[in-house]
Formats: sequence, structure tokens, C-alpha cells
Amino acid sequence: MATTAKSRKTGMYENVKNQFDKAAAVMNLDESVKKILSITNNEIIVHFPVKMDNGDVEVFTGYRVQHNNALGPYKGGLRYHDTVDIDAARALATWMTWKTALAGLPYGGGKGGIQIDPKKYSTAELERITRRFTFALGDNIGPEHDIPAPDVNTTPQMMAWIADTYMSTKSPSERSKNQHVVTGKPVGSGGLEGRDRATGFGVVVTIEAWAKMKGISLQGMKYIVQGFGNVGYWSAHFMSKNGAILVGVQDATGTIYNPDGMDPEDLLQYQKENATIHGYTNHDFDSDKFFGIDCDIIIPAALGNQITEENAGSIKAKLIAEGANGPTDTEGETILLEKGVEIIPDILCNSGGVIGSYYEWLQNRNGEIWYMDDVIGKLRRKLEDAFEKVVHTSEEYKTDWRTAAYIVALTRIEMAYKQRGIFP
Ligand code: NAD
Repeated sequence: MATTAKSRKTGMYENVKNQFDKAAAVMNLDESVKKILSITNNEIIVHFPVKMDNGDVEVFTGYRVQHNNALGPYKGGLRYHDTVDIDAARALATWMTWKTALAGLPYGGGKGGIQIDPKKYSTAELERITRRFTFALGDNIGPEHDIPAPDVNTTPQMMAWIADTYMSTKSPSERSKNQHVVTGKPVGSGGLEGRDRATGFGVVVTIEAWAKMKGISLQGMKYIVQGFGNVGYWSAHFMSKNGAILVGVQDATGTIYNPDGMDPEDLLQYQKENATIHGYTNHDFDSDKFFGIDCDIIIPAALGNQITEENAGSIKAKLIAEGANGPTDTEGETILLEKGVEIIPDILCNSGGVIGSYYEWLQNRNGEIWYMDDVIGKLRRKLEDAFEKVVHTSEEYKTDWRTAAYIVALTRIEMAYKQRGIFP
């Protein structure tokens, strides 16, 4: 488990603000639009009781922050983790606004969750917690208003419970048309073929685009992944299809290292059987030195604030592909850019997830069933397009890729405000 970086939860919102301020200054963002985007639209905090298996009642606190909806309904995941608080929800909701705008989707940004460690609860308890949270949110979410999705420790099964609970609160004739209140559902319950791998696939499409731009091959390149959940595993799966070599993995259960390479499928099997990655290799490895492993590419795919001034100096990789949201803090990024390490920023790198969610939403809304090939093909095109726009904008403004990605996103939102004006 990662233990080095500064507090994982504090300061995430501060990082978003620093990134935003930098981009707003470089592009000379309209002052009124800057004021609007500097703050979240709505912050919903709900306290709700749930009966535990032993008959006791526990009261939980759930968050849903809606940052901005100038381009469409709020969109973003729900996280179940002990680092969830209002600061984290604000930061993650704000990143969603930039991410959906950068991808050219008709969405705004939202995010939320509950401050719990789901490992401490039974499946039946998690179902009741999820359903009661959904009920407590009520019409603060909705298929044309605010559409949650999976994030850290939330699963397709939980999304199915959310959809079912939300639909069950509607009159019978209204139920079916509310299926797209949530995305990331299992395929049998309105989910999209390929949504499971969309984020990891997208991460690798952006890495492929980087390699193509550099005129290099990913074959034989060494990489490490932090987090071996949805994003971490699928990123490793698609990296290995490119012939890249996985030499290190770190997750909440341990840190493993093998300079000769590891097979992601074999590791996944080991993780399923042992509920940990610990013990998969014989090499002892100091978890604090994880990001300093000798490799070409780092894929952070766990939590925020992992690459900071404490460990950025030790990084030997040429590229950081941000599968996670906010894995690099402002100070860490300054050190990396000075060292010439390139960063594919989160709002571009992991946007395959929300793009896949958009396709699921369209599928449900239009009563269609999409094929995996169509999903994967469309995802690739959209991500390659976004990558190209970011690189082009970074050249035009002579700035780093994160700032360029913000500029593309903010330009779209700024235009919407300028065209529509401010009510009344
Ligand atoms: P997940 O719950 O499937 O996996 C999370 C992983 O992080 C697990 O392997 C866990 O062990 C690891 N982890 C937790 N605490 C850790 C710690 N202290 N140190 C090291 N590892 C730790 O979640 P996910 O959906 O894969 O999300 C991972 C990241 O990707 C998050 O930042 C999330 O916001 C981002 N993301 C997810 C999606 C998506 O579609 N799921 C889309 C975009 C971005």
C-alpha cells in the first residue's frame, strides 16, 4: 500500500484550483465565466440510517457535488472509500466538468460517494447502504439531471441497485424511461458491452497516441501500475497486448515487483484467489520507493495526490499516464515538468470511462443495444481526436498538456456561457 505522499484527501480541491487558475491565465478566460467555474453549483450532503445484519442501525453520510451543468446534465462517479469527504467530492466533480467538456460530451460534472470502507460490510449491508443512499438523494439525481457511475470500490452490481431503487420510486409507467439514471450497469441490466474496459482501454489508446507521436514502439517498454482494480487491470491488459512489460504493481494490499515482467491475467487470477496481490512475487519491495522503479511508463490508477514533491524527484519514467483522477499534485507536477517527464493528464487519459458511460446512456435513452466492436471503435476515434487537440493546443499556447487540456475544455464552456448569457 502507498504510504509516502502527503495526506491523500486534503488538498485535492486546491490542486484543481491551481490547475484551473493556471489555464485561465494562459487562455485569458472571461472573468465572469471564471467566477462561475471557480465554485460548485450544488453540494448535497445526506445522512441516512441503515439496518446492519446484526440488527443495529448505523447512520451514514453521503455526498453528491454538482460542479457545473452548462453543457448538459451533471455526470460522474460515486466512490466508497474512507477518503471521501466534501473536499474530495468537490475536486472530483470539478475534474468531471473539464473531462466531459474536453471529450465534447453533452454533460457537466458531478461526483460523490460515502466515506466507508466497503470491505467492512457484507454484500447485503452494501446493498441496503447503496439503496438507501439512492433514496436519500431522491431527485437530486436523474437521467436528464445528474447521472452517477462507478468509481473506486463501487461496482456494476451497485449501479444496478441504484437504477432499480431509483426506478422503483417512480410510477409504473415512468420506470423504464429512467434506466439511464446511472451508467456502468451490468450488461444484463442495461449496461454497455465494453463499459467495463472503457477507462483502461482509453488510457492505453492515449499511450499509443503518445508513442506514435514520438515514433517509438511500446513493445518491450517497462511500465508500472498503481491500483489493480478496474482501471489498473484493464490498462495492464491492453498494455500487454502492445508487448509492454509490467514490472511493478501497487495496490491497497501490497507492492509487488519483478524486473523480468508479470502477466496481468495471471496476476488477476492470483488476486481473485487470494484477495491480495501480496505474495505474487518473491522480490521484497519498499512501498515508498514504488514510483522510483526503473521503468518507461507509470500508470497511476488508484487515488489522488500520489505523486508529490516527496517522490517526484525519484521518478525515472519518461511518461506518466494518469488513469486515476488527480494522482499528481501541483508540486509534484512542477518537478516532473522540470525533469522533462511527460504527463498525459487525467481529464484526457482516463476519459474513456465517461465516454463509455455516454454511449451507455445513449443506448438506454434510445432503446438500442450496441456491439462491443462499435463501442471500442468509437472510443478509439474520440480519444485519438482529443489527444490530437490537446497536443495542438499545447503547441499553440506553448504550454504543458494539462493546461492545454483545460484550455480546450474551458473554451467550450466559455462559448456556451457567451452564447446563452446569464439568466435573467
Ligand atoms: P477500483 O475500486 O476498481 O480500484 C481501485 C484500486 O486502487 C484498487 O486496486 C485498490 O487496491 C487501489 N488502492 C486503494 N487505496 C490505495 C492506496 N492507498 N495505495 C495504493 N493503491 C490503493 O477503482 P477504479 O474504478 O479502478 O478507479 C481507480 C482510479 O481511476 C480512481 O482515481 C478513479 O477516480 C479513476 N477513474 C475510474 C474510472 C472508471 O471508469 N472506473 C473512470 C475514470 C477515472
